[in-house]
Amino acid sequence: MKGKMYIGGKWIAADSWFETRNPSDNKIIARFPAGTEKHVDMAVNAARRSFRSWSVMPPPKRGLILQKIAGNLRKDKQRLGKILASEMGKVLPEALGDVQEAIDIFEYMAGEGRRLFGHTTTSELKDKFCMTVRRPVGVVGLITPWNFPIAIPAWKLAPALICGNTVVFKPSSDTPLCAYELVRILVKSGVPSGVVNFVTGPASSVGKRIVTHPGIDGLSFTGSKETGEWIARNAGLKKVGLELGGKNPIIVMDDADLELAVEGILWGAFGTTGQRCTAASRVLVQSGIRKRLVARLAKAANSMNLGSPLLKTTDVGPLINKKAAEKTAMYVDIGKKEGAKIVCGGKGSGNFFRPTIFENVRPEMRIAREEIFGPVLSIIEFKKPEDAIGIANSVEYGLSSSIYTKSISSAFRAIEGIEAGITYVNSSTIGSEVHLPFGGVKKTGHTREAGITGIEEFSYLKTVYVDYSGKLQKAQIDE
Ligand code: NAD
Repeated sequence: MKGKMYIGGKWIAADSWFETRNPSDNKIIARFPAGTEKHVDMAVNAARRSFRSWSVMPPPKRGLILQKIAGNLRKDKQRLGKILASEMGKVLPEALGDVQEAIDIFEYMAGEGRRLFGHTTTSELKDKFCMTVRRPVGVVGLITPWNFPIAIPAWKLAPALICGNTVVFKPSSDTPLCAYELVRILVKSGVPSGVVNFVTGPASSVGKRIVTHPGIDGLSFTGSKETGEWIARNAGLKKVGLELGGKNPIIVMDDADLELAVEGILWGAFGTTGQRCTAASRVLVQSGIRKRLVARLAKAANSMNLGSPLLKTTDVGPLINKKAAEKTAMYVDIGKKEGAKIVCGGKGSGNFFRPTIFENVRPEMRIAREEIFGPVLSIIEFKKPEDAIGIANSVEYGLSSSIYTKSISSAFRAIEGIEAGITYVNSSTIGSEVHLPFGGVKKTGHTREAGITGIEEFSYLKTVYVDYSGKLQKAQIDE
């Protein structure tokens, strides 16, 4: 199959192509155009030309198009889930969840078309009315990773569109097919020509041109800390949103419900083969429950099945590509050299990696600090409850976090003390819902996507003063 780019309402190819492969067996599933700087320029021009007509369309009307997109995604959910599982490698129930997140955000943002609230407030002068109204940022560049190849683009497209922006969208070169299918649904649902422009191709040309393009007003990026730092240095004065990596802790207190904690840790650490920004990659466990917890986790992890994401019997799919499998193996070696004890796991065949658990991990070890983005869990023991928060905060990231405890005080100390954008109590580190803000602190970036904060990312507030006194009134000037 040969995919296309979509620029100015036309499906187009480029002079050369790149391949997207199934990570389970490395077979080619599709070829996509290797776009260039020239294609980004064409896409920006098309987005610029369409901006006026799209941004003056009443937001509830834009909302109707978003509703249609949600409906068409729902009709196509099973087919899209299978494509997603094949191209990205997550197991089918999770792939369907990825599509469901996209449905949810388009539905939610469709409703925001009837709100897009500003504020009204008082004036210090008579006969003067003060308010704020929301305006779109302009032409926005969306750059996305491969690990939620339909949900993350949708989390950006839905708020960008409802606010009245026009878009240049570049997907990850590991998952262009999922992005292409999403764009096809947008087009089918009535998004007008030029409003969404889709450019596939390398980061070094397409990605960099989007970041530095003078005709782009805003950027929304999800990906690694390293790329995020590059974007922060090179985007100039654009409005920039960054959603970067994580090293998310689960704290297990002595009084925790052991069964519940085991289930949550397995789901957090090995779901999506550990390739979630919110994956639980550290467990901080209190001394009294450590032995029992590690034994339970090891037993359960050892019995997880690796295999094709499309099979019902599979618990853990492959890593995204060879490079990711090599990186994960490298971290396992680093962990062993650092003196951590491997409890279970290790490299499987091809891109597969078995759920891997290290114990006797110290907070200063690299496996406890750096994002591995594979199914590798570090178990760190602590004695006093107050030590747990210090260890949780000892990394440069701050996305998600969790605590298992029956104590209200411990739960609230964690909510107050952990430096992270998200804290779960008695639940894993993953499971965001689209009507709540999502994002981090520290080197995860400080953007909030989804919920009302998704609207804030893709709009600005204009302050309006209406003076109906019929004379020149001067604020702050003594009469
Ligand atoms: P990545 O940074 O390598 O690539 C992400 C996207 O940026 C891709 O489309 C890539 O082509 C593009 N890109 C790379 N370099 C670029 C440059 N210099 N200029 C412009 N574009 C460039 O990340 P990845 O490997 O695709 O994704 C994994 C990372 O994403 C992990 O670190 C993970 O934690 C993070 N992530 C974060 C969140 C979040 O919401 N915080 C969600 C999912 C994934």
